[in-house]
Amino acid sequence: MEEQAGVLSPQASGQVAASWARIRARLREEVGEVEYRSWLRQMTLQGIEGDEAIILLPTRFLRDWVNGHYGDRLRALWQAEFPAVRRIDIRVAQAGAAQPAAAGMEPEADDPRSAPTGLAESLTPRPAEARPAEPRSDWIAPLEPRFTFSSFVVGKPNEFAYACARRVAEKPASPGFNPLFLYGGVGLGKTHLMHAIAWSIQELHPARTVAYMSAEKFMYRFIAALRSQNTMEFKETLRAVDVLMIDDLQFLIGKDNTQEEFFHTFNALVDQGKQIVVSSDKPPSDLAGIEDRLRTRLGCGMVADIHATTYELRLSILEAKAAAAQVPVPLKVLELLAHKITTNVRELEGALNRLVAHANLFGRPITLESAHEVLHDVLRAHEKRVSIEEIQRKVAEHYNLRLTDMSSARRARNVARPRQVAMYLAKQLTQRSLPEIGRRFGNRDHTTVMHAVSRVAELMTQDPSFAEDVALLRKMLES
Ligand code: ADP
Ligand code: MG
Repeated sequence: MEEQAGVLSPQASGQVAASWARIRARLREEVGEVEYRSWLRQMTLQGIEGDEAIILLPTRFLRDWVNGHYGDRLRALWQAEFPAVRRIDIRVAQAGAAQPAAAGMEPEADDPRSAPTGLAESLTPRPAEARPAEPRSDWIAPLEPRFTFSSFVVGKPNEFAYACARRVAEKPASPGFNPLFLYGGVGLGKTHLMHAIAWSIQELHPARTVAYMSAEKFMYRFIAALRSQNTMEFKETLRAVDVLMIDDLQFLIGKDNTQEEFFHTFNALVDQGKQIVVSSDKPPSDLAGIEDRLRTRLGCGMVADIHATTYELRLSILEAKAAAAQVPVPLKVLELLAHKITTNVRELEGALNRLVAHANLFGRPITLESAHEVLHDVLRAHEKRVSIEEIQRKVAEHYNLRLTDMSSARRARNVARPRQVAMYLAKQLTQRSLPEIGRRFGNRDHTTVMHAVSRVAELMTQDPSFAEDVALLRKMLES
């Protein structure tokens, strides 16, 4: 190490040290004190080798983190200070290796208060009125009071996961249900079910300790413990719980150290007959980047998936939420939302909340019209995408024509009119431009499309049965 530093003249190495100090000061300014202390403070500069600045960190985890999150920025800062540096190499320091004094890390006492907090986590959660007089640790944070079993609407897509969650809450650590592995897409109720289990265990088994935290928080806590050489306390605290819940486990992927620690905690708890509940966006078998032995253990209890919602479930959820909001919402409006917003429950809820807020704010009842108005952007974003091909096919089918008639040169009225209808619908239901629509209809000019659109609109006002026909086609395409 000294040799590498010695490649530079004393004067140059003084400059390097000064540059390094400026780079760190700059980073500290950019990322803020808390983040800087968490991840960057322990960086030391080993030296400059050729066009590479070599930076050391004490653990593999920190190395990977800094590399992944600050690597590019570090390189840019180095280049600005020292154009000869084109690359940076972040390494794990060898234990006991002497650091070049000028490049050492800041001799700063670790302030325990500087640990960042914020992600949802909770140890021994209790409803506010029953808060324990003495919190056992600084990990206590309230669970979401809304996320209970009674507010969870059960339907075909989630009934199995729900039943498993209830079972675990009633009889924690029963054979066959440990670990409980819940998985499903975003916003389908994984966190809700986990909190519900925690609330319910508190109620049914008040003596049991429940720790709930996101995988990110688990990782963060673990790293903080490593840094402050407090891993014993971390392990002891976790291993003393009766139920450990880790939400969004997919975030542990690729985080080897943390995974290892989780694996040990996991084994220790299961061996002691404690319950583990884990959630993820994928089943254990699809969690690439997770060690095989952990994957195996994760899958050996109960794996329950939450499927995408159905129309019926969405409608029931909306009905339940509207009733809870105590604002009358016409069924037609709930149907509209259940029909249009199909991705996840969080968005569905968001849309309903917006309607309710709007109604309260302006003191006006919610109607189908106001819903369309208030949710204009949301509904638009969820508009089903229809292709021109689909429109041509449906229209041809409806008028008993062949698909090729849509782009043929035939001008007979019985072909030309349906073609115009298809062009009209293409304009209404897709984002395509007039020239593009024209091209797809046998290379016709955009003025032809324009004419078709206005002609169909005109006919619709004159001929109710024609208007009905077009409306029906539109409905079929949109559903
Ligand atoms: P995930 O953790 O799977 O991303 P959440 O549990 O955070 O999803 O759920 C998103 C939102 O949708 C929450 O507000 C939750 O209460 C609500 N939600 C999801 N599923 C249901 C359900 N079956 N009944 C009632 N609310 C639900
Ligand atoms: Mg969640």
